[in-house]
Amino acid sequence: MSKLNLTGLSKSELETRLQKMGEKRFHGRQLFKWLYSVRQYDFELMTDLSKELRDKLAENFEINGLNPEDHRISVDGTEKFLFRLDDNKPIETVVIPSEEEDRSPSTSSGRNTACISSQAGCAVGCFFCATGTMGLLRDLTAGEIVGQLMFLRDKYGPSAFSNVVMMGMGEPLLNFKNVIDAIRIMTDETGLNISPKKIVLSTSGITPKIIKLAEEKVGVRLALSLHAATQQKRQVIMPIAKTFKLDKLMKAVRLYADSSNLPVTFEYILFAGFNDTKQDVEDLSRLVRGLRCKINVIAYNPVPGLDFKRPSDDKINWFGKELNQKVKAVTVRKSRGMDIDAACGQLAARKFEKDRVSAQI
Ligand code: SAH
Ligand code: SF4
Repeated sequence: MSKLNLTGLSKSELETRLQKMGEKRFHGRQLFKWLYSVRQYDFELMTDLSKELRDKLAENFEINGLNPEDHRISVDGTEKFLFRLDDNKPIETVVIPSEEEDRSPSTSSGRNTACISSQAGCAVGCFFCATGTMGLLRDLTAGEIVGQLMFLRDKYGPSAFSNVVMMGMGEPLLNFKNVIDAIRIMTDETGLNISPKKIVLSTSGITPKIIKLAEEKVGVRLALSLHAATQQKRQVIMPIAKTFKLDKLMKAVRLYADSSNLPVTFEYILFAGFNDTKQDVEDLSRLVRGLRCKINVIAYNPVPGLDFKRPSDDKINWFGKELNQKVKAVTVRKSRGMDIDAACGQLAARKFEKDRVSAQI
């Protein structure tokens, strides 16, 4: 009989497992700490548990993490890992050094951002996104979500990253339960101990789930992938926008900002000739009026085979400046890690395509 993998189990699940074995519940809490805080995966070395209990745990459970199949480092220090899950599905995790440092996680002082995946593939199918071309392969378990962060800490130590963004593959709000479970493990002081304010959940705009997220009170920052400031325009590039209309979506975002007491980030990818005019600046600034927010203007990271273009650097800078005259907090990001297929899902989509072709032969 195969053993149960404990990675991703919550504190209360571990307590219950231990209780079912006839043990005290607090041993579940001890185990939680060993697993996520100490990251000791050998039961034998969990020294505050009795020898008898350690043997019992080893008989029944195992602790398995993720193993990378591919690892690439960009000239700007961005690192990308491709993992194969147990059922061979590919996912990606990216580590982005802070702008000032541009150094790899092995040498930096720890102000790196870990960009993690929440699903293998994605069902939302935004027309500009590499992950979207794969469709949804499956939801990640809570263990596979936190496993990406545990892997980075195991490899690079406690300063592997200081911020977490759920901007890898997948739509986190369409894998709601596992994402919430993972966030609770991340933010628990005896878990990964990451401040919720250092975690950003990015969504394409699943309105009812934004409201539900506010109710969960996990305290993470919300980012909305806006990319166009009117309903008409948005639905041209994001089919999901037809289901979740912009007016109601913005109400949910305002509600999240109020209930979390944190500013919301709007992601705005600039596509050449689509959303980069003075009118777009007007529409965007009107849309966010009165809202405590930040706008990230991001240069499109071209995906081969998709019909979108990245504007010139001059155009990107112009747009950022114009917008900044009307909205206070604007940052302009030229895509990073372009030399290592760092666009969301690009590397995994490539592997997925290769697998599919070889399966057909
Ligand atoms: N599904 C969620 C989170 C993952 S995508 C979401 O859509 O928000 C993370 C971010 O990468 C989103 O803002 C998405 O629009 C953006 N993105 C996707 N493909 C991109 C590309 N080729 N270039 C730049 N940004 C991209
Ligand atoms: Fe999915 Fe986000 Fe890509 Fe859209 S941008 S297809 S929601 S991963």
